[in-house]
Amino acid sequence: MEQQKTDIKSMNLKELAAYIEELGEKSFRAKQIYQWLHVKQVSSFDEMTNISRSLIEKLKEQCTLICLRQELVQISKQDGTRKYLFALSDGNVIESVLMRYKHGNSVCISSQVGCRMGCRFCASTLDGLVRGLTPSEMLDQIYQIGKDIGERISNVVVMGTGEPMDNFENLVKFIELLTDENGLNISQRNLTVSTCGIVPRMRELAEKKLQITLALSLHASNQEKRKVLMPVANKYEIHEVVDACRYYFEQTGRRVTFEYSLVAGVNDTNDDARELSELVGDMNCHINLIPVNPIKERDYKQPDSGAILAFKNKLEKNGINVTIRREMGRDIDGACGQLRKRYADSSVSARG
Ligand code: SAH
Repeated sequence: MEQQKTDIKSMNLKELAAYIEELGEKSFRAKQIYQWLHVKQVSSFDEMTNISRSLIEKLKEQCTLICLRQELVQISKQDGTRKYLFALSDGNVIESVLMRYKHGNSVCISSQVGCRMGCRFCASTLDGLVRGLTPSEMLDQIYQIGKDIGERISNVVVMGTGEPMDNFENLVKFIELLTDENGLNISQRNLTVSTCGIVPRMRELAEKKLQITLALSLHASNQEKRKVLMPVANKYEIHEVVDACRYYFEQTGRRVTFEYSLVAGVNDTNDDARELSELVGDMNCHINLIPVNPIKERDYKQPDSGAILAFKNKLEKNGINVTIRREMGRDIDGACGQLRKRYADSSVSARG
């Protein structure tokens, strides 16, 4: 069997330096190569013009240079949001989204191919998990989009398909590479990682004392309701999850964001708003209300705009910081996993 090649784009500078030395080369070459990979973002070793031919040949022999291939891009006529479908080298496809704001360009990346968390309203999880993404595959979503629009990406959110805490080691490496001053150098404060609430990993992340924002997908005001929407709640009780968020704040000083997808008749009542206030009201936090994006496989509906506003007002009266997330890219399968799912379904039916 052919030996697995080294994923050179997933190495940090220290690892790369050790590796280059192992090849019998001077370690300062590592910095040059790292720049080609993460700053100039070349798509082949041949483009590394200040590297000797012999070293390039060695790298070609031993390493893969992970570059995603753009399969499809859909551009929203409403707000310029771009949804990308990228092909990985093993033939899997993932999706990423570019959102353009006044304050800069934000990219939402996938962390896994599919997902095994089973949240009831989410399209990404319908076909289960295929595999976690490598650090290089997470990074390259941002690199490719930056190249495509020819502009700097200033913000990154790990809120696409997948559960980042279910791919923890690769996530941590990705964060290190993305925020490295020798690479793209995105500020930790401009990076948000969203989780459905895998408590031990949230605590582990807290202990790293990074300055990134943690977002928790809460979606319910009590344990009973959360269990109905999110199977992960069977494993981690709602208070345990919220306590992990408190711990994150204690360790990092970073205000936690709670995401709450509003579903008509399920979690949008006055009582829900009251219970939610009691659950997190004493915390330094921010609640993001997201009117649920209906998927055809489930019968969940958005509350009407009056009910959404009433919910928001009730939280505000209780002194909670809250915003309603502006929907972007609704006309281009904006919701998590919708585009990939539609693509997979259509290629299956085309074949069969
Ligand atoms: N697994 C992580 C990150 C990916 S999901 C997590 O659970 O946080 C990103 C966010 O989109 C989560 O808050 C998720 O619950 C929400 N989401 C997924 N599908 C949605 C839909 N159809 N409508 C509204 N929000 C949705």
